Amino acid sequence: MRNIECGMRHYGIMEAKQIKMQNARQRIEMNTIYLDHAATTPLDKDILDKMLPYLTGTFGNADSPHALGRKAMNAVDNARDCVAALINAKPNEVYFTSGGTEADNWAIIGGAYAAKERGRTKILISAIEHHAVLAAAEKLRADGFEIVQIPVNEGGRCELNTAEALLDDTVGLVAVMAANNETGALQPIKALADLAHKAGAVFFTDAVQAAPYMPIDVKALGVDMLSLSSHKFYGPKGCGALYIKSGVKIKGHVVGGEQERGLRGGTTNVAAVVGLAAAYQKAVETLSHSQEKLTALRNAFLDELSVLDGVSINGNNENDLPAVLNLRIEGVNNADFVYSMDLQGVCVAAGSACASASIKPSHVLTAMGFSDEQAKECVRISFGKYNTEAEVREGAKKAVEIINRLRK
Ligand code: PMP
Repeated sequence: MRNIECGMRHYGIMEAKQIKMQNARQRIEMNTIYLDHAATTPLDKDILDKMLPYLTGTFGNADSPHALGRKAMNAVDNARDCVAALINAKPNEVYFTSGGTEADNWAIIGGAYAAKERGRTKILISAIEHHAVLAAAEKLRADGFEIVQIPVNEGGRCELNTAEALLDDTVGLVAVMAANNETGALQPIKALADLAHKAGAVFFTDAVQAAPYMPIDVKALGVDMLSLSSHKFYGPKGCGALYIKSGVKIKGHVVGGEQERGLRGGTTNVAAVVGLAAAYQKAVETLSHSQEKLTALRNAFLDELSVLDGVSINGNNENDLPAVLNLRIEGVNNADFVYSMDLQGVCVAAGSACASASIKPSHVLTAMGFSDEQAKECVRISFGKYNTEAEVREGAKKAVEIINRLRK
């Protein structure tokens, strides 16, 4: 094969073409304005550096008794200690999973079957839960459990008296997410957990969207189970954690191995677990700074959009997550908006990424009282730590142009 000069090294023609394409691709990605951090965040380079040794040199199976295995297990133990300390739990209350979806599935299904053994077969879940909870509950319904949804008000929040009225001594498990992934609205978790406990039920919260943006203290929140997902706070995808308070009964989840205290079998993804812990630690350490920055970005975006009429914020007020902005843009179809923004190099969402293959209007927005037509006018913009104010303003200016064009 003929070689061509490429910098200091010699490459084959095919290889040189590939490098050229990769460089072009990177340029495209650098020119992209990414405003979809509620869907996922990029892996932080510092976190990648901490993970790399466990993918290469120290690649041992954490359950192997030899030196490489012991080093891997040591890293997993440290990661577990770290996550436990950050959420004010004990290390043996933290279980690693393949992500938020698995942690949610486990809490709902494992929690429901454990409750059934206490004679309780009613499960309460909020109407705005992530599909990882909703679909798990639907599976339980098909298996004979009674599933009851807690409605939300027009701000997207569960009201305490509504939840209390639904609780009785047949309820085994209550699940309400800490922050909603489509609107950023926070829920009154402590008060809901207290109500659930008064009725003798176990309380689970999906904190996947909340954890990157607010301190999590499982004792102060009074929760029995809580889920986390690493890729929402600049860690690797495919890794999550479930906190299960000691003494809380839950059925095992994956059989075939003794990992995670015999409840969740499978060779531990050591690098990912190391990444999750390091990323979560960094997120917690930079919390106040990031909240300030995200609020400024959100305000900058809204400032640019203020030239438009017929744009309103859905279910997110001052104390909610500044990273997530759900907007209703009257007269604009959200799929057309997302597509047009994408053509301009701006990544935004019409709702949850996990449901984006579906053309159904968002269940979160319809639960908040929007009609199907209104819900299809709603978009989600979500900010992150690498966004600059200049690019957020540029993205918003493009949004204004697109909205004006689509409305014509
Ligand atoms: N719960 C919420 C609130 C989420 O936003 C997500 C991610 N979209 C999940 C659960 C699922 O997490 P993962 O992507 O790690 O499976």
